[in-house]
Amino acid sequence: MNCIFCKIIAGEIPSERVYEDEHCIAFKDIHPVAPVHILVVPKNHIETPTLMDQLFFAVGHVAESQGVSKSGFRTVINTGNHAGQEVAHLHIHVIGGKQLGKMG
Ligand code: AMP
Repeated sequence: MNCIFCKIIAGEIPSERVYEDEHCIAFKDIHPVAPVHILVVPKNHIETPTLMDQLFFAVGHVAESQGVSKSGFRTVINTGNHAGQEVAHLHIHVIGGKQLGKMG
């Protein structure tokens, strides 16, 4: 499968991992839009949202470890063309570390 996130999970493409458990990994976005911009990605290739409990468990850990759990952060899931989804492997952006603008 030609999925960049599957290659990252397999270690074929380098990434800066900040969290890993049996269900998912979290690594730094290569084009961050804020001081903290982490992608939480399930280890299995999934294109649409499932496993949300496990993923948001990981999001909580990531927010804590990246120092944004108290200041606040934004979680974003882009789905499909109009959202500008680039990688067709379900992932949650964890964005924070500065005052974020309004959505839209
Ligand atoms: P989306 O538009 O929601 O599909 O987001 C895909 C995200 O993956 C973008 O924010 C990219 O910057 C990020 N991305 C693409 N390739 C890599 C990579 N090799 N390592 C880390 N992040 C990546």
